[in-house]
Amino acid sequence: MVSPHDLRAPLGVLFDLDSTLYINDELLEEQGLAAFQAIGGGQELSLLMRVLNDAAVAEPRQMRALLDAIPRESLSNPVREIGHNIIANWIAPMQLVADAVPLLNQLEVLGIPFGIITNAPDVQWLKIKRLGLHTRARCIYVSDQFGAHKPDPTIFLAAASSLNLDPQNILMVGDSLASDVFGGCGVGMQAAWVCREGIPNPLPELPSGAAPIALLTELLPLFG
Ligand SMILES: [Mg+2]
Repeated sequence: MVSPHDLRAPLGVLFDLDSTLYINDELLEEQGLAAFQAIGGGQELSLLMRVLNDAAVAEPRQMRALLDAIPRESLSNPVREIGHNIIANWIAPMQLVADAVPLLNQLEVLGIPFGIITNAPDVQWLKIKRLGLHTRARCIYVSDQFGAHKPDPTIFLAAASSLNLDPQNILMVGDSLASDVFGGCGVGMQAAWVCREGIPNPLPELPSGAAPIALLTELLPLFG
């Protein structure tokens, strides 16, 4: 099995965000479901999801105005309230996953630039700011804003260019085999496949230059 020790020491790192640098998406689901059970059903679920998505594109201070712009008759008051609260309650306690902290610190100590490539709408900016990554990452690519999603090569190449590095000197780190691992390796990067549930056995076929890891700290020896 290819291990992270087989990887070449990279000059820069690109990280996926969701389930790679933080892991509380379950909280959003739990809170959403609990909130709907509290008002007696999920009839308005699709409306709420639209509200959340719209709200998420804005800064927190803009959320209320955005929500208020939705026609009153389309949404009941309890649902509007829930819409206001769910995202705030989800983002507020969000933290970097514990094994990300020493790795990011080490990269900073060594002056190795890192960036983020994430497939998602602009809600990612709320997370990125909450996690303090907006002042730490050299570049941040949010797919809906950029106009292409991983594994499209253009988003990887744009990020590589922002790091001022050739793709072969970059390590892409993420939990999605298709988007992060095959996407990154597809443009010549190395990749670390983050398997938070444990490395599967048997291991699916990985592209050359990719290694599975269970924790981000397994990458620390690459930056010793
Ligand atoms: Mg992910």
